[in-house]
Amino acid sequence: MTASKHFIIAIDGGSGTGKSTTAKIIAKQLGITYLDTGAMYRAVTFAALEKGLPAEEGPAMDALLQELKLTFDAENHILINGVSHEQEIRGMRVSNNVSIYCALPSVRAAMTKMQREIGAVSSCILDGRDIGTVVFPNAEYKFFMVTDVAVRAERRLKELLEKGEQVTYEEVLANLTERDRLDSSRANAPLKKADDAIEIDTTHISIQQQVQKILDYVGVVA
Ligand code: C5P
Repeated sequence: MTASKHFIIAIDGGSGTGKSTTAKIIAKQLGITYLDTGAMYRAVTFAALEKGLPAEEGPAMDALLQELKLTFDAENHILINGVSHEQEIRGMRVSNNVSIYCALPSVRAAMTKMQREIGAVSSCILDGRDIGTVVFPNAEYKFFMVTDVAVRAERRLKELLEKGEQVTYEEVLANLTERDRLDSSRANAPLKKADDAIEIDTTHISIQQQVQKILDYVGVVA
């Protein structure tokens, strides 16, 4: 791989499998753009909830998608019309609603378009649910991460408690399980391993080992 070649790395998988942490580190090491597509769906959900919009297609949802300007700051935090709502988009209110709003075809079409535009101009690593199957089916590198759900819930609980969120293990486990169920069963761009994706089980390995496995496949010496 040469530094000048344009390429896409797709990382898909269920909620809490360590995709974003891994992708962030790889982006830094390779000097490419990291795109957190989950943050985009979380941002739309947050904006819709703030406006009291139900998860329904219609003129109100179309108007919201038209008005919504999503950008990223230097720390890769998503900005909604110029403002970061990092704490809120990661909290349980958004987590409990995102899989419903993100299944709307209008929402998926708008986010997919943005993701393709960003990926067209620079080499990118994107993490999500449908990157290797729908957004960039021709991505040069595709990975699919799986992790035992109890381990995922433990890791996510720790993160949320550190951020000051009041939440129990049972709530986190129920949220991860329900999001995976909704994300896998929706008609439009479901969570699914692409036929040509490499599966990585992250249950017993550290973030550094996940990073190294991907870098090994991509052919980079870290
Ligand atoms: O990655 P994260 O867990 O932050 O994603 C939040 C939610 O956004 C997922 O549970 C899923 O419902 C949705 N999502 C999606 N497609 C993507 C990324 C995220 O449907 N590419």
